[in-house]
Amino acid sequence: MTNTLYQAGHITLVGAGPGDPDLLTIKAMKAIENAECIIFDNLVSREIRQLFPQSAQQIYVGKAKNHHSSTQDEINHTLLNCAQQGLRVCRVKGGDSFVFGRGGEEMLFLAKHGIKVNVVPGITAASGCTTYANIPLTHRGLAQGCTFITAHADKDLSLNWDALATLNQTLVVYMGLSKTQWLRDKLSACGMCPSTPVALIERGCTPDQRIVTGTLETLTQLKEQHAIQSPALIVIGRVVSVSQQMSWLEQLQQTDNNAQPIKLSA
Ligand code: SAH
Repeated sequence: MTNTLYQAGHITLVGAGPGDPDLLTIKAMKAIENAECIIFDNLVSREIRQLFPQSAQQIYVGKAKNHHSSTQDEINHTLLNCAQQGLRVCRVKGGDSFVFGRGGEEMLFLAKHGIKVNVVPGITAASGCTTYANIPLTHRGLAQGCTFITAHADKDLSLNWDALATLNQTLVVYMGLSKTQWLRDKLSACGMCPSTPVALIERGCTPDQRIVTGTLETLTQLKEQHAIQSPALIVIGRVVSVSQQMSWLEQLQQTDNNAQPIKLSA
């Protein structure tokens, strides 16, 4: 299945997952190891950058908030130029390239210019960060589905909020940190219970990971009190209570090794 992965003048769009290098797929790792040129984002963790081959040219095109180093148009043209030079190019992005990653736009731009593109899926933040935080995205009796949305200020927020607030599913919000108050107000106004559990996961799946939990009502206080910084994911829904149960079970086991197992409520 390696087919065109490592050919000169081709681009491999690699989803590098949320941070832990052990979450890279074997296919992603092979593409990185064989690259002559690596073009990467700010969401690609330090630990993953350390795996880049010394011999490869490394081009940083990060787009951290308030530090716009490259526009999307510039990134597209950088990718095109490198491919046209006949290099084996690896475009490395955090998470999955096709989940709020503009991977689709880059793929279409390159295809329009006759460049062959391979896409390697990655573990998206919603999956990796919640798992590392002991939050199941679905859980029998708590959530039969989950929805990923972005609350980025520049993006269209014209989603069906009435539906999102009342689906009784897990809601995972990407790029929502600057919109916590707005999210709380909107979801409450649309019928979501203010006591719905929420979690904020900062730098999930990295050694700096922080997880704080509370309720929809206190979402902004939670963010401010703990000075949560980007990148952070917001998880809204009853599944967050599973991680809360896990943390007191763990505490209990630390303080009393003879503790009887506790029945978790469904
Ligand atoms: N393509 C990426 C998402 C890019 S959008 C993916 O599939 O994961 C950027 C947003 O993703 C961040 O603002 C944050 O909300 C979320 N995110 C990405 N990596 C994260 C991490 N390690 N910890 C917490 N949130 C993360």
